Amino acid sequence: MQTPAVDIEGVTHRYGGHVALRDVSLQVPPGMLYGLLGPNGSGKTTLFRILATLMPPSEGRAQVFGLDTTQEPDTVRQRLGAVFQAEALDENLTVRENLRFQASLYGLHGADRRNRVDALLTRLNVADRAGQAVSSLSGGLRRRVDLARGLLHRPDLLLLDEPTSGLDPAARRTFWAAARRLQEAEGTTLLLATHLMDEAARCDRVGILSNGALVTDGAPDALKAELGNETLWLDTESPAALSDRVEAQFGVSTQIVGSTVQVAPSDPPAFLSALYEAVGDRIRSATIRTPTLEDVFMVHAGTVPDSDQERVLAQVTGAQDQD
Ligand code: ATP
Repeated sequence: MQTPAVDIEGVTHRYGGHVALRDVSLQVPPGMLYGLLGPNGSGKTTLFRILATLMPPSEGRAQVFGLDTTQEPDTVRQRLGAVFQAEALDENLTVRENLRFQASLYGLHGADRRNRVDALLTRLNVADRAGQAVSSLSGGLRRRVDLARGLLHRPDLLLLDEPTSGLDPAARRTFWAAARRLQEAEGTTLLLATHLMDEAARCDRVGILSNGALVTDGAPDALKAELGNETLWLDTESPAALSDRVEAQFGVSTQIVGSTVQVAPSDPPAFLSALYEAVGDRIRSATIRTPTLEDVFMVHAGTVPDSDQERVLAQVTGAQDQD
């Protein structure tokens, strides 16, 4: 069996008395784009700090290509690159100067350095900006330069912590197209931390973190399919009462998420009309829809993700999608 790019086994991490990660286990095969999806404070950055050898976990172990992050931190660091929300670029230097400087820190010199910098500038579509100061670039271009910086030493694993935060949708798309090209061309494993559903939906595999626990993990389509073809979302004033009543009367299992009750009957339209006859007075609104990654998040985490709260609630209550 191939050695996983990332192998995390029973990792718990505490900051003082605060538990940031709870018994997290996950594996990422080499060459994959893996998304860790979770709202702010769910533990994504903590997991990245452990993988980047910046701190040991309180319990459990983390390995990168079979190397233990606590026992072999120097070797692990050679295999890793990182792109975080705050760019690690010098504003006053040009794009090329930034990359040359960073490449020197990684021990690249002469023709090797020139070729590597040129190759990345081209691959990330920033070659025409090579002579410009970083301070004069748009947010999207800077992120791509930062991505190039993280890749200079040909890391086998790249950690991307909310790399597109603050970018507009077009700049985000360009960033991801560039990252995917690199993944294909260089076989780099990409581990992405994000709170954005659409970004997670593009990953080969997604792990959902909620309150420091990995609540589910799988390919986005498989996770959605687990919820059924179509699910029914019922918005109500008293979710617990509605859930009890539906389960007792119809013999189906339900899930409460915020003010909604979720059901996955075999024939949702027929079920909905029967439901309206029986308990219509308790239902404020109802939606039938094909499961989305938001639904997967809500069902497994039992909450609406903070950042998407308004949009998801709008969907749940059947209001117009603002996207
Ligand atoms: P964000 O995107 O906001 O950084 P996150 O999912 O990356 O969120 P973490 O930064 O890993 O989450 O934080 C997980 C939990 O640990 C949070 O409750 C946070 O407040 C807490 N935490 C993070 N760093 C520290 C620290 N150095 N000391 C104490 N608590 C911390």
